Amino acid sequence: MDLVFIDANVLVSPVPRTMVYQTAAYAEPGFLPIYSPFVETQAERHQRPGHIRVSELRARLDWHLCPDANPEQFDFVDTSQADRPILAAAISSEAKFIITSDVDDFGNTDLRRYGISAVNPGLFLAARVTPDIYTDTLYEIAARRQREPRTATSIHNLEIAVELDVLFRRFQTIFGPTTSPSPHNPPRTLFKGAVCIQCKQTLTKAENGLHQDCRWQDWVGK
Ligand SMILES: [Zn+2]
Repeated sequence: MDLVFIDANVLVSPVPRTMVYQTAAYAEPGFLPIYSPFVETQAERHQRPGHIRVSELRARLDWHLCPDANPEQFDFVDTSQADRPILAAAISSEAKFIITSDVDDFGNTDLRRYGISAVNPGLFLAARVTPDIYTDTLYEIAARRQREPRTATSIHNLEIAVELDVLFRRFQTIFGPTTSPSPHNPPRTLFKGAVCIQCKQTLTKAENGLHQDCRWQDWVGK
């Protein structure tokens, strides 16, 4: 089971957050999301009024908290000051991955020194989730929904396509032919760091998150 540290920008964003936690409930992707109190405070500060508080979701859904850590105990050089507490907590909790929608906040030197990777949530899920788990998860979300979109197909086409671009492209045709809407603020960088998303072995500089042999075979956007 791999511990994956969830950044505040994922925790505060309902579509990526739900996909991460919901797919983690299956055994096969083999990961457990964690985050620290610092992250929860940051996320709640950015939550929209009317949304259920992250701390309340955690209590209700039994999410895992790990301790905060002091960034002064590490030799960080190229991670933004604001994100050093996140990197410190992730390393201290022995997470191998930080799931973040802003990979560029983290520095390659720091990530490599401490053997951890920063990964965009869409890329992480595309690498770890099977087609069956993807479809089951969307059906489960659709069954609970009180508002539109409330079918698996429309959640795939309207929400995953916009917010988890790489995941959408991996499973683009799973519900039949689609037109691809433009992703919402597509991130410049999807991956930085030391270890492969799939096998957790060291990567060389040229690889973008996955060894060639670890990459899913039906990947169309390569
Ligand atoms: Zn690999």
